[in-house]
Amino acid sequence: MIYIGCHLSVGDGYEAMGKTMKSFGGNTFAFFTRNPRGGKTKELIPGDAQALSSLMREEKFGPLVAHGSYTMNLCSANLQTRANGLEMLEKDLERMEVLPGNFYNFHPGSHTGQGMEAGIEQIAEALNKVMYPGMHTTVLLETMAGKGSEVGGRFEELREIIDRVNCQEQLGVCLDTCHVWDAGYDIVQDPDGVLQEFDDVIGLDRLFAVHFNDSKNPCGSHKDRHEKLGQGCIGEDALKRLALHPVLAGKPFILETPNDDAGYIREIHQVLNWQQGN
Ligand code: FE
Ligand code: FE
Ligand code: ZN
Repeated sequence: MIYIGCHLSVGDGYEAMGKTMKSFGGNTFAFFTRNPRGGKTKELIPGDAQALSSLMREEKFGPLVAHGSYTMNLCSANLQTRANGLEMLEKDLERMEVLPGNFYNFHPGSHTGQGMEAGIEQIAEALNKVMYPGMHTTVLLETMAGKGSEVGGRFEELREIIDRVNCQEQLGVCLDTCHVWDAGYDIVQDPDGVLQEFDDVIGLDRLFAVHFNDSKNPCGSHKDRHEKLGQGCIGEDALKRLALHPVLAGKPFILETPNDDAGYIREIHQVLNWQQGN
């Protein structure tokens, strides 16, 4: 089995998200550590994180996959943007410590013309400034669509970041199905080959979570436009095969499909149905 859930808004606090996901029928979720497009974080409510942790234990939730802000760019050519990104990352990881044992996923960054190697260097340098031995969060680099100057569209780029990071024990990868497809990895015709390539380049022991999306565009389009499950170019059969793939068993699958609550509930149950062999 896998764990399945979607993005939730942190608006009413941590425990409230757990209760919402339980009511949706899921057993993991993602949330933005702050407004995804802006900068602010919410005040922590005392006891709230602990309440969520006990709910997760009781309901046998899988690990959560928090998501860093889209505005965070650790390898921007703009020094102020880069400094802001580092500060966001540091504060986000500090906050994650109240929810020990979960994941923090972020977009590695866009090198904005500095070149791929410079981007990779700067991302690793930032991670080396804020990660420390004994931290209770595993940091995940998200596989990207390779749009514009994005770093992380190729598995090799993520490998190069990992190689430069000191705290490798707390570092992994989140595979986004829409992104890898858009980046040119054919998970429809050859899912085993793509996972084999992931293993050869990065190592499957670094694969901790999945963003589970269909794509509006064909393989290799480098677009990054998500679609509802089964309504895009990846399609239901291929997505089902991935959800049931033994290599991905036990991982949290997070829906980032364009849906309202009712749509997410439908997709969560769709995936649960696959698992029950329907
Ligand atoms: Fe993302
Ligand atoms: Fe994603
Ligand atoms: Zn995306």
